[in-house]
Amino acid sequence: MANAITKGALIYEGKAKKVFEAGQPDHVIQYFKDDATAFNAEKRGTIVEKGVVNNKVSERLFRLLEDAGIPTHFLERLSDREMLTKRVTIILIEVVVRNRVAGSLAKRLGLKEGDAIEPPIVEFYYKNDALGDPLITEDHIRLLNLAAPSVVNQIKAWANRINQLLVPFFQERGMILVDFKLEFGLHHGKLILADEISPDTCRFWDQKTGESMDKDRFRKDLGKIEEAYQEVLRRVCG
Ligand code: UDP
Repeated sequence: MANAITKGALIYEGKAKKVFEAGQPDHVIQYFKDDATAFNAEKRGTIVEKGVVNNKVSERLFRLLEDAGIPTHFLERLSDREMLTKRVTIILIEVVVRNRVAGSLAKRLGLKEGDAIEPPIVEFYYKNDALGDPLITEDHIRLLNLAAPSVVNQIKAWANRINQLLVPFFQERGMILVDFKLEFGLHHGKLILADEISPDTCRFWDQKTGESMDKDRFRKDLGKIEEAYQEVLRRVCG
């Protein structure tokens, strides 16, 4: 199959990925960059080899989810930094699942970083850089016409199921899955999981030391950023 794939024109360039035509109208190629941004792109930098880590970690997690019955856009990893995926229309909602208090939740609600959230919570953010990705409710989703109520219900159910699958997967690798962000898309009208699942889009804490093994090391200038990404790759794909 790989022989038939020809990388075509650039369709879109985002903060961490480029998307190319794949010579087949139903498919695209995701290329993972080393560029890193935080705080709505106010902070910019490079994490060496991040693209390779995020591509391979995403592949492993998409395969795990597909095997468990969650439809994803993943088709095949083409190279260190490239993944063949189904073409989707991205739903403009960022879905965040939280198992522990961290980040914006701690700040917004004055909760203590690290406290367990039981049962886990699912939040929705409007994917809109100009507005700074604001937190939204299901009523806002309806008001903005971002997705039909039945689609929102499916997204919530899958987000919780994905969390149930990922928590033990990371636990077995000595990692606490603190929180993560998902994006979904429509492919021929069908809802599927899209984007990536990686140290850019998840918070992982080492079970033994409590140290961050994700983009928080970049956001907070904690150092050893590349080392942390490589360690995630080793534990997830090694
Ligand atoms: N997240 C993301 N992209 C975003 C915002 C958040 O991937 O644009 C991820 C983030 O890495 C974390 C989770 O979603 O794993 C929850 O992030 P939070 O709302 O706490 O925001 P932050 O503190 O990262 O700004």
